[in-house]
Amino acid sequence: MPKNPVMIPRPATLAQRVPWQQALSHAISDPRELLRRLGLDASLLTEMEHAHGLFRTRVPESYLARIRHGDPFDPLLLQVLPQGAEASGHPSFVADPVGDGDAMAAQGLLHKYRHRVLLVTTGACAIHCRYCFRREFPYGAFSAARDWKPAVDYIRRHADITEVILSGGDPLTLPDRRLEELLHGLEAIPHVTRLRIHSRLPIVLPERVDGGLLSWLGKGRLAHVLVLHANHPRELEAPADAALARLRSTGVTLLNQSVLLAGVNDDIETLCRLQEACFSAGILPYYLHLLDRVRGVAHFEVAEARARALHDGMRTRLPGYLLPRLVREIPGAPGKMPVESIGAATPPTDRIEQATRSDA
Ligand SMILES: *Cc1c(COP(=O)(O)O)cnc(C)c1O
Ligand code: SF4
Repeated sequence: MPKNPVMIPRPATLAQRVPWQQALSHAISDPRELLRRLGLDASLLTEMEHAHGLFRTRVPESYLARIRHGDPFDPLLLQVLPQGAEASGHPSFVADPVGDGDAMAAQGLLHKYRHRVLLVTTGACAIHCRYCFRREFPYGAFSAARDWKPAVDYIRRHADITEVILSGGDPLTLPDRRLEELLHGLEAIPHVTRLRIHSRLPIVLPERVDGGLLSWLGKGRLAHVLVLHANHPRELEAPADAALARLRSTGVTLLNQSVLLAGVNDDIETLCRLQEACFSAGILPYYLHLLDRVRGVAHFEVAEARARALHDGMRTRLPGYLLPRLVREIPGAPGKMPVESIGAATPPTDRIEQATRSDA
């Protein structure tokens, strides 16, 4: 027993004790500070400043801790580092590539697909991912943050809605009290059976998975599904691992969606390791998204043919239940559109011949 236990630093325990709101407000928001903390060359600053002006820098400490010091190509860093390329115009990368602005059914509520609605709960995020498809979304006009009532009323009036999806921004940046208010409103609507939460917070701000969250998550009448958003296997490492273990203990269904990003995860090895890491953490792969073509993110794009080849490569290496669906969002489509090839490794012409033979 140490003589003076108070003096012994215990980083894991201490990290858990930092209230998440404090961790959130201490996120790095100054490009200069980001470079300094990671030991990166200050000459990067000039191009960063402009991109930072377009979409502010935001990196929580616990995410920073997983970025390799001194490596300007670290795949975690590339997701948060403002880059000069964000300013270069590209005609097919636009402000609202998925047509969300036109699909608003009530304040903050998107009703694009059958039986499920998506609620834009807030514009706030704990991290600013440079590839974000909502980096230009007019949250002020569109989020439901101020008042849940119009959205809840709409859901009550539409008996075919069975699932409500909380998205954002990041819904878990809202205080538990606000989320519980919404949850109780939804629980009172008999036709709603599932609540799905899309959040990157357990990965990027693991402090969020605290007693307050665990007091309501996985409880109550609705089935809860939590869709996490990890793009690289190292994002699941400490300090996120402990938060994920706490989530697992709630028994909530845990899924993961990723975005296929050039320079971050566009190789078979990394993609396979990501799915394996998810499984080890009790999370099943859900979607691998092709990038939405929002202004300023063209440098992250992976061409569709290459994306298919990567996905085929994963299919030959992973069990079927660890293969995420490769999808793209197309405005007006009735759901996320699959862009997968039908079978792996077999050229299409051979496949057609085989199909014809078995028909005969
Ligand atoms: C992605 C999305 C959903 C959910 O689609 P799933 O295929 O069920 O994951 C629902 N509504 C909107 C508006 C979406 O963009
Ligand atoms: S967490 Fe999601 S919504 Fe927030 S900046 Fe990143 S990609 Fe965008």
